[in-house]
Amino acid sequence: MVRFREGARLDTSGVQDRRGGGGGRGLAVGGGGIGVLGIIAFVLVQVLGGGGSGGSGSDVASILSQLQGGSSGTADNTELEQQCRTGADANDSADCAAVAIIDSIQDYWTAALPQTSGTAYAETDTVFFSGQVQTACGGATSGSGPFYCPGDQLVYVDLTFFDQLQSQFGARGGTFVDAYVLAHEYGHHVQNLLGTNAQVTPGETGPTSGTVRLELQADCYAGVWANHATTTSDDGQEPLITEITQDDVDRALDAASRIGDDFIQTNLGNGTVDQDAFTHGSSEQRERWFSTGYSSGDPGACDTFGTDDL
Ligand SMILES: [Zn+2]
Repeated sequence: MVRFREGARLDTSGVQDRRGGGGGRGLAVGGGGIGVLGIIAFVLVQVLGGGGSGGSGSDVASILSQLQGGSSGTADNTELEQQCRTGADANDSADCAAVAIIDSIQDYWTAALPQTSGTAYAETDTVFFSGQVQTACGGATSGSGPFYCPGDQLVYVDLTFFDQLQSQFGARGGTFVDAYVLAHEYGHHVQNLLGTNAQVTPGETGPTSGTVRLELQADCYAGVWANHATTTSDDGQEPLITEITQDDVDRALDAASRIGDDFIQTNLGNGTVDQDAFTHGSSEQRERWFSTGYSSGDPGACDTFGTDDL
């Protein structure tokens, strides 16, 4: 299992903990979720939160429009700062492991993005929310799964999603599954910094659509980070992650296979595979592109837009 160096220093400044309180209602609903880039898009809204109806974009719109508030815009990291100080804490607590993983992902891209693309990496926060949240991309619920909002350049995650991956999707779970999901969302941030997602028509679906290419590239970027994870450092420039095992990688691949469009349509949708509705790629594709990133360790290998062999 992935191990964090016991004495590594965790930095919670990359997280905004908006789970507490429960106040702060009344923020206006924003742009209706346009441009949100998730790990599973809005399928879960339809399947788990949409009352089991046929699942169209209008379900999503209606759910989003029902949101009147949610987690407030105010973050309170006090508890997180107290709980998550060292790598030992990350080895003991899934929340602290998420903090450490976010530190690791951003440490990797801070060095790698300028080297591989000439573009500077800009650090961005992950918002921990509970239930529902307001974003520059509109309101969202945990049912939509973790996502990245290009409008405010923030990653949003309700950490209970990781339990859902096991209970609803049958994934094996584990810290490295959480890591894959977070690294996928930061992959979208990298795409935003590079201008890649701006080239994709929002809402376009289908097996060779820009949407699918964008999502598979985010999976590939997640694999690239995984390749380099044990070389990343804490803010004292000391190692952060000491070990990743083959079992960790297998668990990430298992999770990828359970959030492929075909798997979700077959097992959580109406049972038939509709390629024209694909937004993230098939299970096989998601596993393969994560593997491409992991085995190469090179963001340049993630050219999902330049290949006919998607
Ligand atoms: Zn995504």
